[in-house]
Amino acid sequence: MQVCPYCGEAELIEILEVWSPRDFQIETCCYGAHEAVSEFLSEDPKGAAQWLRAKGLDDLTGRRVRRVINDGSGQLVIDWKLTIEPVSFSTAKAFVAQHHRHCPAPAGWRFGAGIFNGEDLIGCVMVGRPVARAFDSARVVEVNRLCLRTDIAPDLAWNGCSQLYGWSAREAHKRGFEKIITYTLESESGVSLKAAGWTIEHTLKGRSWDTPSRRRTNASQGVNKNRWTALQ
Ligand SMILES: [Zn+2]
Repeated sequence: MQVCPYCGEAELIEILEVWSPRDFQIETCCYGAHEAVSEFLSEDPKGAAQWLRAKGLDDLTGRRVRRVINDGSGQLVIDWKLTIEPVSFSTAKAFVAQHHRHCPAPAGWRFGAGIFNGEDLIGCVMVGRPVARAFDSARVVEVNRLCLRTDIAPDLAWNGCSQLYGWSAREAHKRGFEKIITYTLESESGVSLKAAGWTIEHTLKGRSWDTPSRRRTNASQGVNKNRWTALQ
């Protein structure tokens, strides 16, 4: 028996309850133990996840915890490991319409997916025909739209773009396409593309098209764009 240093009784620190989508409650023997565990959970997001996993959270919920984060209001909540799952075209289209500022969804797609944090749909990718006619649309696909929710705690969407770019490239390969491309403005870092193993293959001078992640404005005439591709 472990003796609690705060109350001198048998130490009790367990997961009492988990509510959908990401709230949880810890049961402790005393207030002191509760304070101590709350402090630990808020100061070490990854350690907190490991601790909750050791306490059986993954088995309890059937999901895998990624980190414990502050939801912005001071509440500690569960950040689940992101999962990429099929969604219908109409779901993706509605998602983009709602969350992609100024940028309407394309009229069709070859394929796409949603990315979930637990049961919350936090992002979508839509992969379709290349916008530039020079590409053979039987062999080349383009990430036409990729967007993540911005109305949630940013931690919940962390790494989501990279995972969707990575998935899109693997899926294009699986479906027999020879190449996948996408565009960013030269001013964008492309950090999530790089993290997913994409590279810049060409810089287009002075174009003013849209990119999947950012809608141009009329004021941005003549900006340079990078075209990216994923190595297969
Ligand atoms: Zn105690």
